[in-house]
Amino acid sequence: MKSFDPASNIQDLLQFGEYGDVNPSITDSATFTFMQAKTMADTFHGETEGCYLYSRHWNPSNKYLSDALAAMEGTEAAWVTASGMSAITCALMHEIKSGDHIVSAATIYGGTFAFLSNWMKRFNVEVTFVNISDLKSVENAVKPNTRLIYTETMTNPMLQISDIPSLSKLAHKHGAKLIVDNTFTPMIVSPCRLGADITVYSMTKFINGKNDCVAGAICSTKEYICSLIDVNSGTAMLLGPVLDPMRSSSILKNLHTLHIRMKQHSANAQYLADRFKSIGLKFNYPGVPEHPGHELLKSMMNPGFGFGGIISIDLETSERASKVMEAMEIKGVGYLAVSLGYFKTLFSNSGKSTSSEIPDDIQHEMGLSEGLVRFSVGLDNDIERTFELIKESLNE
Ligand SMILES: *Cc1c(COP(=O)(O)O)cnc(C)c1O
Repeated sequence: MKSFDPASNIQDLLQFGEYGDVNPSITDSATFTFMQAKTMADTFHGETEGCYLYSRHWNPSNKYLSDALAAMEGTEAAWVTASGMSAITCALMHEIKSGDHIVSAATIYGGTFAFLSNWMKRFNVEVTFVNISDLKSVENAVKPNTRLIYTETMTNPMLQISDIPSLSKLAHKHGAKLIVDNTFTPMIVSPCRLGADITVYSMTKFINGKNDCVAGAICSTKEYICSLIDVNSGTAMLLGPVLDPMRSSSILKNLHTLHIRMKQHSANAQYLADRFKSIGLKFNYPGVPEHPGHELLKSMMNPGFGFGGIISIDLETSERASKVMEAMEIKGVGYLAVSLGYFKTLFSNSGKSTSSEIPDDIQHEMGLSEGLVRFSVGLDNDIERTFELIKESLNE
């Protein structure tokens, strides 16, 4: 069987504007006119395909980007949101009601962790956090009222790999759904093709890759996306975190170079991993056979995009981490900044930044060292030179 190729699927889409414009024109409009009153009424009730009503529901520019994302994921449909967090929170809230239970990976994005552990309490939704690599403990956490299993393909910042096919079987056996945040591994892994029900993204990161906006996406079946934007009961339609069409248009252009960028991010990170190994530095990267999730990721990935652009090193103490990060910034390795997937290398001390919402004892339990420095490796042309600069910074 020919392997799934997300990049070719995007390439094969015939998407052009009404004047033949190869970059589809931006539909800069909040509302849409009708020549017949009945068509408007039918559109309102979701009975007409291809008619636009109001941009919080659908906008042609958002539809182009959503269709391209669905092609990339191999899902029937997608919907784009104003941030990754709005994609995640809408997908979660659309599935649950008061009294329900969620099983979630413990090592997830700090904002998602805070939403699940703090905000969800207001609505009497119980969440059990588990070590997602331990399938037995995931199953033991499931209760009769479990509606969802939530995880990230590659968890932040420990780069643990989720066994999506097994988690999906487990969820479905208990009448629950599996939601997967695939922000770290677009193109590399296609969660819905492996059994996930819903894939969510922060497009702020690799997908857009330019750090000029925040944006998100939800990919799933057509039925699910329609229910998410139903005018009477759709969580996304009623909470309204729609993406601006101008932004959709610019993200769509960047999506067309995602495959090239992913390959380069991965190749550079793999190079650094191999060099870190050669100098005996403690590091974490799923592209080396020593990583506990290496074989699992290999079994799930689409060929050709590598093992991703995220790598972390353990500098033991936060003081040392600060010193090395400051030296790296001065020497031009990249920027001391949160976020990832940018063309320049970004690095930060996870425990003091993007994972700071996670309490110290849980950080400790998940093996998050206070000296952990996470790199989002950039598109550097000469990664050997970058390695030398990192090495110099380590010796400061
Ligand atoms: C950044 C990030 C988010 C949140 O996305 P925003 O676009 O900042 O709202 C969610 N999940 C992961 C894995 C992320 O890295």
